[in-house]
Amino acid sequence: MGKLNDLRSFLEMLKEKDQLYIINKEVDKKYEIGSILATLEKNRERAAYFTKVRGYSIPVTGGLLADHRRIALALETDLDNILEKLESGLKSPIKPIIVDNPSFKENILTGDDLDLRKLPIPVHAPEDAGPFITAGVTVSKDFDSERQNLSFQRMQIKGKDKMGIMINEWRHLKGFFDKAEAADQPLPITVAIGVDPVIMIAAGLRYDGDEMEVASGLRGRPIELAKAHTCDIKVPAHVEFIIEGEILPGVRETEGPLAEFTGHYGTKWQSPVIKVKAICHRNNPIWQTLNGASFEHINLGNILPREPLLKRFTSYVSDSVKNVHIPPYGSGFLAIVAIDKKNPGEPKNVVMAAITSHVNIKNVIVVDTDVDIYNPAEVMWAVSNRVDPRNDIFYIPNAQGHEMDPASNRRGVQTKMGIDATLWEEKKDLKKVVYPEVNLAEYLK
Ligand code: MN
Repeated sequence: MGKLNDLRSFLEMLKEKDQLYIINKEVDKKYEIGSILATLEKNRERAAYFTKVRGYSIPVTGGLLADHRRIALALETDLDNILEKLESGLKSPIKPIIVDNPSFKENILTGDDLDLRKLPIPVHAPEDAGPFITAGVTVSKDFDSERQNLSFQRMQIKGKDKMGIMINEWRHLKGFFDKAEAADQPLPITVAIGVDPVIMIAAGLRYDGDEMEVASGLRGRPIELAKAHTCDIKVPAHVEFIIEGEILPGVRETEGPLAEFTGHYGTKWQSPVIKVKAICHRNNPIWQTLNGASFEHINLGNILPREPLLKRFTSYVSDSVKNVHIPPYGSGFLAIVAIDKKNPGEPKNVVMAAITSHVNIKNVIVVDTDVDIYNPAEVMWAVSNRVDPRNDIFYIPNAQGHEMDPASNRRGVQTKMGIDATLWEEKKDLKKVVYPEVNLAEYLK
């Protein structure tokens, strides 16, 4: 049995592996935490744990899954095996189990004691509309069945017991809420903040069932759940905070903007509203957050859930596919595929398979296996050297993409592009220059 089962054991592991900075300088939850997390991420630095947040007694941690080194740790695997690990979790889900006396019931705040504004919820980016819960895993239950669902929903704090919640069209939660609203009933909802990171990874996956079973599958043992305080949703037992409430029927209010995964500010939405009924937390709780416009958001929402599908779809049309990547700098709109080309037409077929693996994928670059698909400079080198634009680039106009893609219309309709950046057949004797790697430390003593 592995040792990870909650946020605290993960923080301990990150500390041991030199992947966490403990920041004791006092920081402001307005902009400063978001700016520090952004700077750390840009420099491929560690995650952060802020012990002193101005005006609050609760510490804040963030950037935990902003880097694949930490994602590998969270999955208890190696960097090279993240994709296979995700595949195995999806293939062998495990039912969670229910336990008594969960730690989040150590403190239960209701009525006059309940106040979201007493929590150190950051205002992350300069033009965000206010404080947002960004790293909370929404645990919901179908209105008329026992089925549960995990998802990420941005939630804007709008008062002591009121939050706005954005729910996209294609979410499972939307189906649950539509049924409640049709019956003019509120839909109970819970938000888990500070969980075993495998639950966050599972929450980003599109799975036709309870993602908690995938989280358990990834852990290789059942995740422990417990009944929430105000409703019968089963939430993670080992969690820092459970915020419980109801999405009100027939209510919409302005929510947003928030710095989004596209690297742009999202627009204001007319979003549903949650009336909060309880805040439960462990003793000495820790608040967890992430930046909206960040690689961490893209890792959870676009890369980890979709690389396994990209691999599956492209490998299905060509057994020449060796590796695939959805780079975080492409906001989930770009896919890169490395192939060992056997036929000059093969890259274009692979592009079409890649585009159909997820609606968000707009641009696909196919390279030879001598190109490091994780290194943007190498990919750009291939595009610059091995592409004849007229023959190697092709377009699929008026296809469906993501509505938030700035190069799509309001319904997400856009042009898709394929780039065959593999070496031409008649130039295949050209050899890429590769210098032997040296250990610099031996020369710089
Ligand atoms: Mn789902």
